[in-house]
Amino acid sequence: MTQTTEHPRPLTGLLPANRQSEGAGVTVHRTIGTPRADHVDPFLLLDEFHIPADAKDAGFPDHPHRGFETVTYMLSGVMHHGDTSGNKGRIGPGDAQWMTAGSGIIHSEMPESMDGEPVHGLQLWVNLPAADKMIPPRYQDVAAERIPTMTGDGFRARVIAGTLAGTTGPVGDIAVQPLYADVTLTGGEPARLNVPKGHTVLAYTLTDGLKADGHAIPAHCLMGFGDGDHLALTGTAGSRFMLIAGHPIGEQVARHGPFVMTTRDEIHKAIDDYRRGTLVRDKAVVD
Ligand code: FE
Repeated sequence: MTQTTEHPRPLTGLLPANRQSEGAGVTVHRTIGTPRADHVDPFLLLDEFHIPADAKDAGFPDHPHRGFETVTYMLSGVMHHGDTSGNKGRIGPGDAQWMTAGSGIIHSEMPESMDGEPVHGLQLWVNLPAADKMIPPRYQDVAAERIPTMTGDGFRARVIAGTLAGTTGPVGDIAVQPLYADVTLTGGEPARLNVPKGHTVLAYTLTDGLKADGHAIPAHCLMGFGDGDHLALTGTAGSRFMLIAGHPIGEQVARHGPFVMTTRDEIHKAIDDYRRGTLVRDKAVVD
């Protein structure tokens, strides 16, 4: 005899992205990190970036970060990454980079088109608990072939971090115990995705065609869900979204541009350290 508990998470919020310019010549669809959603604990920002193949000098030249993590996931094209401590990397289609900025990093993120395709991907900012904000920086670079593809009820997914239906992604040892997956509906039956109870659970649509609680959700929208043990989603086969979940931190957020700390004093210290050239004090750990 099997016992099943059924607590689907209800759709509680829908936030269409703001289309805005960011960096040099880059257009982003931003949901988290806007006046309507400053942050959704533990997530601080979500950008879907789109850089046309013919864009000249587009990208994000040297800029600092302190106090949180930036997660880059590429859909097409390449992002070249370099920091002032000499770490260099190339994030190509299907690759991910989980960068823990911690005590401070100064880096550049510069796009390169491949085969005339746009440079297209996502950047998610994940908060660190106050106790971890000044840990040494760390990179977890994950090549596409290390990201497992699994098939579940009504969907297939690439699991970047966390565990989905028994498949665990390669990114680990992250404070908020994230689940981050690229999910595509396979049609025929409703998709059922088990997610941890009590965690913040969001979904960001990359295509039209998804339905939640009977509502049609267009592309470039962030969905928020109430508590429960799974998501139940329907829609046309091929509908694609990013599943984003994590344990809420429950602390105050003080932010100023690329610095996200717990208090205003810590923000002033970060700005001051950056001006004095002492923001980067620890060498990054590269996994
Ligand atoms: Fe950055």
